[in-house]
Amino acid sequence: MAKSAIVIGSGIAGIASAIRLANRGYTVSVFEANSYPGGKLSEISLGEYRFDAGPSLFTLPHLVDELFELSGLNPKDYFEYVQLDETCRYFYADGSRLTAWYDKEKLASEFEEQLGESRKNILAALDNSALLYKHLAPLFLEKSLNKVSTWLSPDALSAYGKLNRFDFNRTMNQANQKRFDNPKTAQLFNRYATYNGSDPYQTPATLNIIPHLEFGIGAYFPKGGMHAITNSLYSLALDLGVNFYFDTKVQKIVVHKGAAKGIDTNMGFHKADKVVCNMDMVAAYKNLLKDQHQPKRLLNQPKSSSALIFYWGIKKEFKQLGLHNIFFSEDYKTEFQHIFKKGSIYKDPTVYVNITSVHNASDAPEGCQNWFTMINVPNNQGQDWDYLIQYAKKAIIKKLSKELGEDIEPLIEVEDILDPRLIEAKTSSVAGALYGNSSNNKFSAFLRHPNFSKRIKDLYFCGGSVHPGGGIPLCLSSAKLVDELMN
Ligand SMILES: Cc1cc2nc3c(=O)[nH]c(=O)nc-3n(C[C@H](O)[C@H](O)[C@H](O)COP(=O)(O)OP(=O)(O)OC[C@H]3O[C@@H](n4cnc5c(N)ncnc54)[C@H](O)[C@@H]3O)c2cc1C
Repeated sequence: MAKSAIVIGSGIAGIASAIRLANRGYTVSVFEANSYPGGKLSEISLGEYRFDAGPSLFTLPHLVDELFELSGLNPKDYFEYVQLDETCRYFYADGSRLTAWYDKEKLASEFEEQLGESRKNILAALDNSALLYKHLAPLFLEKSLNKVSTWLSPDALSAYGKLNRFDFNRTMNQANQKRFDNPKTAQLFNRYATYNGSDPYQTPATLNIIPHLEFGIGAYFPKGGMHAITNSLYSLALDLGVNFYFDTKVQKIVVHKGAAKGIDTNMGFHKADKVVCNMDMVAAYKNLLKDQHQPKRLLNQPKSSSALIFYWGIKKEFKQLGLHNIFFSEDYKTEFQHIFKKGSIYKDPTVYVNITSVHNASDAPEGCQNWFTMINVPNNQGQDWDYLIQYAKKAIIKKLSKELGEDIEPLIEVEDILDPRLIEAKTSSVAGALYGNSSNNKFSAFLRHPNFSKRIKDLYFCGGSVHPGGGIPLCLSSAKLVDELMN
């Protein structure tokens, strides 16, 4: 008889797990609380404007491609993307501007011309990031940290000899202030802490590994926008015979004699040989595994930051803006103190504007742009979000209007808002955290839940709240690790 597997949640890691299980010969059923697949990686439409609802930066596309290859298909027939020459446009409050390029030499020249930063410093920072990636990615991103074999592998043995190069003992900001001459360059490189919802003034300098994703491997844009990732993988899963049950919230993971036996939903009990949980693991323990042992230390880790997003249809085209744009705060340190210490929003927040219509013209009417306007905010601790949203909106409009030399408020013709409460309500991500736990201390990587349950046989975990962490590539890696654990 065919083996059966259940996946709880159709986030990107849930869909990837379902594809991998189907390829292993399992009959797979995915149960999803929402009426649509993709979780955070979804889209919304407002009139004639289309927006990617959550993620906007796409890195490590081979992790999507390999799901097609594994299924015996050519990824290019299903999913297309382009590599970005220009990765981001930066705007500083004092009027400095900088365009970040994938081409290292061009990037170094840009830093030299715009910020007076020496080329040597930039190239050395990129080399350092590449070295961290070379030695740490095979261990921390591509293997289970809970297997002895990981620590005895050739990758581990080669890393042991370089421990002092991995910069665990100072913060990202300390390393960047020391490395660069211009504090604005340090600010730009500090920004990479936010790629996993952390604070550059607390997170270890080891996270200087992150720029390598963009500058060493590349930033990409999927044809049709980020939602094309969900669409293409969802179609692949359907083609492989995966059954999706939408609007079906899982109520319990049924455990018998120390092994997962299936799940309960409002339609009753569903039996399975393997259960893969893609929902936030804290919410899963609290709601679906209530009567099981609770791994308190892992459950109580501080959560990553969240986001406040204004989806704005703008009835004008701003040619000085690209796909990714950052308008920096004048005081980055105080901004992060507000996010991580005060649980509030700084009066001069760093504003990220993502405009997919720059590449995908049909995302906005002619002569208009779809602005996904986001600031990093604390996760939800019961703040007065209705007040904070209005406060932030005023600050963002003031900042962007000043930078762009025009009052943008009258140009906003449609608006929708996503805040930490809604992120939690829509995806069950505890406190609306974008990436599960924060990585604000050097032990964080070891304090993420493994991709399997140590106490319950046949129960596995994937997605942004477990090892190796949040972000699309890491979620796809988590699904790969679940797959490998089934060997
Ligand atoms: C605003 C924003 C910006 C981001 N920017 C980026 C970016 O630029 N680049 C990047 O790589 N990443 C980014 N991320 C992070 C990225 O979106 C996530 O890491 C990734 O999408 C999480 O996928 P996941 O598989 O963990 O599942 P999720 O997307 O969290 O989905 C979990 C699914 O489980 C379902 N579920 C929960 N409970 C149950 C239940 N009881 N029964 C059934 N189903 C249930 C939920 O409905 C949901 O569909 C961003 C996230 C947000 C919100």
